[in-house]
Amino acid sequence: MLIKLLIANRGEISCRIIKTAKRMGIHTVAVYSDADADALHVQMADEAVHIGPAPSKDSYLQAERIIEVARKVGADMIHPGYGFLSENAEFARLCEDNQIIFVGPPVPAIDAMGSKSAAKKIMEAAGVPLVPGYHGEDQSPALLKQHADKMGYPVLLKAAAGGGGKGMRQVHRAEDFDDALAAAKREAMAGFGDEHMLVEKYLTQPRHVEIQVFCDMHGNGVYLFERDCSVQRRHQKVIEEAPAPGMTEVLRAQIGEAALKAAAAIGYVGAGTVEFLLDTDGRFYFMEMNTRLQVEHPVTEMISGQDLVEWQLRVASGEELPLKQSELQINGHAFEARVYAEDPDNEFLPATGSLNFLQPPDESDYVRVDTGVRQGDKVSVYYDPMIAKLIVWDEDRPKALRRLVKALSEYRVRGVTTNIDFLYNLANTKAFKQAQLDTGFIDKHQSEIF
Ligand code: ADP
Repeated sequence: MLIKLLIANRGEISCRIIKTAKRMGIHTVAVYSDADADALHVQMADEAVHIGPAPSKDSYLQAERIIEVARKVGADMIHPGYGFLSENAEFARLCEDNQIIFVGPPVPAIDAMGSKSAAKKIMEAAGVPLVPGYHGEDQSPALLKQHADKMGYPVLLKAAAGGGGKGMRQVHRAEDFDDALAAAKREAMAGFGDEHMLVEKYLTQPRHVEIQVFCDMHGNGVYLFERDCSVQRRHQKVIEEAPAPGMTEVLRAQIGEAALKAAAAIGYVGAGTVEFLLDTDGRFYFMEMNTRLQVEHPVTEMISGQDLVEWQLRVASGEELPLKQSELQINGHAFEARVYAEDPDNEFLPATGSLNFLQPPDESDYVRVDTGVRQGDKVSVYYDPMIAKLIVWDEDRPKALRRLVKALSEYRVRGVTTNIDFLYNLANTKAFKQAQLDTGFIDKHQSEIF
């Protein structure tokens, strides 16, 4: 095993990676901005190096600065976490050029999945089922409209370069298409500097089911089952769970195999997530592949008993996968709720301030809190305002859900507005108890949640 790891990230994921690295006897190096000089990840790491001013573009997104730091401290590996530089092929290439191991897939695999339209072409060729739609190069508005008319409304316009639930627009009637396209292109240009559009059939009540895959450099690949991330607000995940309620062994194996096929098609190595939409008729369609560790990976860890960061570090240093498919099993049920500093009564606007009082529920075999903040810390305007991920486990879904509701009721935060009551109300709805999940869940049950 290599012995010095730089974590090119901040917050909870940085802390979470440091924990595993320490357990494995790996020396850890944190990086931090002006705003994070006293942050938990800085305190936890064996070494910490300042990389710039508070705004991400001047610090956590400074690829060359981070490489320079890694060289200076003699780091063998860089873990990018999620967000920031984690899916930046240029950064992965810089690591390679400097003989530093990038904990992630090979550069061409990142490139291949960087554009939603290019990704769909590769998956189509590999025989992975796709959401019906158009993902071609010809972007003339008349042609895009022709495709929309042919597949029938509603359709979804999606920015090929989009991400994080942004750059999407539904079109419900043919006569609205031209205006919607113009607006979607403007948004895409402003948000991602690229107005390339996909047109997809808009599925009205799908579930978001994603598969955790893992591949090593020796041609082995496994899937660590699925996560259901249907509970979303504006296409962003709010509560995730594993396994997906109602999943059959047959369907699980089919989706798992499709995900492995997707990974194999791009020569994947490391941890990846293949996202699918699951239609009400049980058909599933490839949506995109995320070439990094996901925010919601802990629910997979809880039901599989595996530490995915440990797997990442082992695979990155050239080891074979720790387990074969036949050695992996689902045990029990897990939920993750994303605890945010935001105001549900005011359009979920990010909240800032000092965490004057902070008391998460007690951790145990059943309750895990992944966080990057302590009492007294500030939630600033500079970064994602997530306070923590609350993860619970129990032997079945009803029991795990009771753990979630109880843990949410025990979570105390003062000084900053949070979404904890919103999460509690959501988890308490009858529909959630009955696992009536689809991506419209929150809209449908508004009156009970707010
Ligand atoms: P992003 O990269 O921004 O996360 P995704 O392509 O992963 O975008 O889609 C995010 C979410 O948007 C999905 O989980 C789903 O809720 C919704 N979505 C995406 N494509 C479709 C579709 N064709 N029909 C219905 N909903 C969709």
